[in-house]
Order: sequence, then structure tokens, then C-alpha cells
Amino acid sequence: SSSLQDDHKPRILLMGLRRSGKSSIQKVVFHKMSPNETLFLESTNQIVKDDINNSSFVQFQIWDFPGQIDFFDPTFDSDTIFGGCGALVFVIDAQDDYQDALDKLQLTVTKAYRVNSNIKFEVFIHKVDGLNDDYKMESQRDIHHRATDDLAEAGLHHVHLSFHLTSIYDHSIFEAFSKVVQKLIPQLPTLENLLNILISNSGIEKAFLFDVVSKIYIATDSSPVDMQSYELCCDMIDVVIDISCIYGMVDETETNTFNNESSSLIKLNNGTVLYLREVNKFLALVCILREENFQKQGVIDYNFLCFRHAITQVFELRNKCQSSGTDRRRS
Ligand code: GDP
Repeated sequence: SSSLQDDHKPRILLMGLRRSGKSSIQKVVFHKMSPNETLFLESTNQIVKDDINNSSFVQFQIWDFPGQIDFFDPTFDSDTIFGGCGALVFVIDAQDDYQDALDKLQLTVTKAYRVNSNIKFEVFIHKVDGLNDDYKMESQRDIHHRATDDLAEAGLHHVHLSFHLTSIYDHSIFEAFSKVVQKLIPQLPTLENLLNILISNSGIEKAFLFDVVSKIYIATDSSPVDMQSYELCCDMIDVVIDISCIYGMVDETETNTFNNESSSLIKLNNGTVLYLREVNKFLALVCILREENFQKQGVIDYNFLCFRHAITQVFELRNKCQSSGTDRRRS
């Protein structure tokens, strides 16, 4: 059932003061809006459960401050809201005075932690595109310091906050989300392992497993990630989606032209090949390799099929565990 399917998806709550950038983040990451268009977004003034949830691997909800969220309001059902959520992303506008935001952060973390001590707390120090590098580092230090002090004061020394510098004007927002989502995937070590095996047997340099809709990568092999490779792969996904929307054949059973058979190949003039293969409804594998290694495409394709088979098993196993009532989510 779809509710069963939804249960295992990483669930993320996006919170922060009004105008901190939550709707922009949602639109840019999950709806392909270009960053400039967000200037004309109307501010969120209600709880938004994004409709993206059916087409993405990641579940996602937005909450706004101030106004409708009053933790002391008896109708605010914090048990349901925090109970079912894997990560709480708190967005702070780094171009603004952030004292208010820090106060709300402390209040939110305190409240959420009491309901669900397994939540991962992620602070996005956002809109850093407007700041120079020194100031960026300085605000990160300052926010980190003050937020941790506030928590210690509230008796929550042991609660861990992670910090990310983000902007919708570059790939930092996707990169930050990728890190957040990866913490919520209990099978991550297995996925990484499978990717390591795949690349070492196929002459591939780097491989990412992408949530296609959001371009968040949910896993990669264990070689270091450089931003440029990640950006290249993101761009490739955009191209492939655009092309399959325009030229893809749609029959009655398929709502999405991007399917099991989808694959794509881009050769760059520096001798690099980008190769994309669809893994399942949500996920695609994107690989970067040298053109000469791509001559063994048969081997690569065969290895890919083994990889896809293994991935399917990993997720089926999870479904089985969940339907038998065993929740294996790591705490
Ligand atoms: P919300 O009320 O938290 O949903 O905030 P919005 O998404 O409406 O964003 C408020 C304003 O911040 C908009 O004008 C956005 O264009 C702007 N904004 C959002 N993200 C960024 C960013 O990364 N950098 C910059 N410079 N502006 C941003």
C-alpha cells in the first residue's frame, strides 16, 4: 500500500522564520524553479505538505514561524509532527539579524527532542551567496557557538546540531540536502558498498545514486565528492528529464516517461563520459568515466544489471521488515 511505502521514506521537516527561504528551497530543490523566480514567491503562511511526496524518494513538509506554530497551543500535535519525522531542517537567514531565529531554534529543538530523541537536527545557514568568505565562516562560527550554548543552557548538552552553509543560487542547497537525507537511510553502508563494487569492476571513476526529482544524491561510492562532478551529474539529469518529457512516449499505464528502460550517454570533449541508467521509479545511477573505459560498455551494462538487482533486494528487504512490523530505522 502507499502508506506502507511512505513509511520508509526519509521524512524531513523544514522550519524557520518567515522569509528565511523555506518555500524557495522547496521550489528550487523539488520543483525545478530557477532561483531568480523565487523573488516573486508569496511567503508561506500555512503548513505545506508538498505534493512531491509521491514522485520522490524523500518526504518533505514545511512549517513556518511565527504565527501559526504555537507549541503551547493544545491543537498543535507535536507528537504526530515530530514523532514521524527523521530530520528537522531549521533555516536561518544569514543575511539578516539572526537572534530571533536562534531563539526559535532553541525552542523548537527542545520541544522536538522531548517528543522524539532520534530526530537529526540540521541547521541551514542560508542565503550565504550574499556574504564574502570571511563573513561566511564568521557567521557559521557565531551561529554554531550561540546555538550550542543555548541548548546547553536548556540542559540539552548532548543534543547534536549539524550546520550547513547553503544558497539556492548554487549547488550547496542540493549538497546539504543530500547529506541530510543520507543520514536517514539505514542502508547507506550497503549502498556505498554496492557502488564501490560497481565502479571498481567497471572502470568507472565516480558514481552517484540520485533521487531523480530532487537531484539529491542518496549515496555515492567512497571516493571523495568534488562539487564539479556532482554539478555535472545534476545537469545531466536535467537534460535527460527535459528530453524525455519532450520526446518520451507516453502510454496509458505510464505517467512518467522516465522509466526502467531509461538510459543516456553524454560524451564531453575532454574524453569524459557521463552515463545515466534508471534504477527504479525514484532513483537513477549517474556515472563519470574515461571514454576509453566506456568501450567495454557490455561489461558496464552487465554490472549495472547486477547492481540494480542488488539495490532492489535491499529495498525489498526493507519493505518486508516494515510490513512485519519491525522498524529497522537506525536511531
Ligand atoms: P519563506 O517565508 O521562509 O518561505 O521564505 P521565501 O522562500 O518566501 O524566501 C524569502 C526571500 O528570500 C525570497 O525573496 C527569496 O528569493 C529569498 N531567498 C531564498 N533563498 C535565498 C538564497 O539562497 N539567497 C538569496 N540571496 N536569497 C534567497
